[in-house]
Amino acid sequence: NDSSLSTFGFAGDRLLDGLLVSTFDEGSCVSRYQSYLYRKPSPHKPSAYLISKLRKYEHLHRSCGPHTKSYDKIMGKSTKSSKSGAGEKCKYLVWTASNGLGNRMLTLVAAFLYAILTDRVLLVKFGDDMSDLFCEPFADSSWLLPRNFRYWKDQKHIETHESMLMNKGYNEKEIFPSFLVLNLQHSHDGHNNFFHCDHSQNLLQRIPVLILWSDQYFAPSLFLIPSFRQELSKIFPEKDTIFHHLGRYLFHPSNKAWELINKLYQVHLAKANEKIGLQIRVFNTHKASHQTIINEIIACVVRHKLLPEIDMEKSTTSPLKKHATISKAVLVASLYSEYGEKLRNMYMRNTTVNGEVIRVSQPSHEERQKSKDGMHNIKAWSEIYLLSLCDALVASPKSTFGYVAHGLGGLKPWILKRPYGETVPEPPCERAMSMEPCFHYPPKYECSANRTIDFTSLFHHMEHCEDVRNGLRLF
Ligand code: GDP
Repeated sequence: NDSSLSTFGFAGDRLLDGLLVSTFDEGSCVSRYQSYLYRKPSPHKPSAYLISKLRKYEHLHRSCGPHTKSYDKIMGKSTKSSKSGAGEKCKYLVWTASNGLGNRMLTLVAAFLYAILTDRVLLVKFGDDMSDLFCEPFADSSWLLPRNFRYWKDQKHIETHESMLMNKGYNEKEIFPSFLVLNLQHSHDGHNNFFHCDHSQNLLQRIPVLILWSDQYFAPSLFLIPSFRQELSKIFPEKDTIFHHLGRYLFHPSNKAWELINKLYQVHLAKANEKIGLQIRVFNTHKASHQTIINEIIACVVRHKLLPEIDMEKSTTSPLKKHATISKAVLVASLYSEYGEKLRNMYMRNTTVNGEVIRVSQPSHEERQKSKDGMHNIKAWSEIYLLSLCDALVASPKSTFGYVAHGLGGLKPWILKRPYGETVPEPPCERAMSMEPCFHYPPKYECSANRTIDFTSLFHHMEHCEDVRNGLRLF
């Protein structure tokens, strides 16, 4: 029996309701079987069908993964290939990194879902900047793309699916390439994105090795593909749990990351009754000052009763005692130290109206994004993970860093409105309707009707995102 009562009082299941298998060596990835001690059990149960798909996928990965005969055969092939790759037992989806860690984790989940739907093996091209972040997710195999992959360094000369669709068209007799770039990089021109059209999928399924370039959470576009729709609904009867389940299945902090997460957890969160995460991502520092953003955050947390107001009268006479019992811990994640400092001082130097003691801390302030730096990414991953352990989250708009945190945590965050100038927006924040990430640049082209369309009008489980007007979110 895998259920037990943790030191934190959660009657959790260490295998996350069957998402995980117990066959891994525990020492190689301590977090895999310990995460349940830190996180409340998810109220969302994976469907039996999802679990069976995962077990089937793991089997495929074992038989086709790196260093198998099939892998060597297909990866050794020249670019120009046979008539059709459709007959191959093993087909691959090679994930490549682009943009920051949040973007990368979103595309990893979307890629994994696409791999499951198309019976492809997901291999990840992790450089040194990502090699220390995660454990292997698939038992008795590896998801790491071997470094001797022939296009490790340079993929510029590989044909893309767009160029194939645009320039030549294709027909049954044509020779298909063995390797093709699937470019789903964010494009502001949603009219030219045909990935979700049946004719694209018919082409793609003939290609043994797809190399994915993307920084987008494109999972919602898989629902637009008629041949996947039914299967997706069967795998995910609750459509807003895709990232939640697949993210918790894939992303286990490496022992190195877990050590840091544990340390930070003990210092900043362990002692509090309630944990509030504030994720503050400022994309353009010129639009609003730090102070305006702080005022906005305070307006949001006070209005939604996440944190109490300061008692202006009592505060001058009785500031917070050093050893008072902490009722709420606030974890601030931001590149800039000002946020943690100002909020910490505010709650340290004053009394709150209801007497609650609030402790604010900020584990790091990296000042700028350094996504090619391994240690920087470990800190980012640790903070994403810690935010996901909070009871409530306030997150910045349009930030994929925040999306990963609330998706893993199964939380619907309060999303801050984008401030302009020195005015605090009204309302300062809005509760997200879903814990799914937002797909920022979804397609707008309806393939069968050859016209542009707003897909929320066709699918009742898709909405525009609170923080990105043209984006799509499953709910
Ligand atoms: P997005 O740009 O907000 O959508 O998120 P990404 O994760 O894709 O890119 C931002 C990157 O900047 C992160 O991956 C980190 O490298 C860094 N970063 C941004 N905010 C934080 C933060 O609060 N803490 C840490 N440690 N790094 C951050």
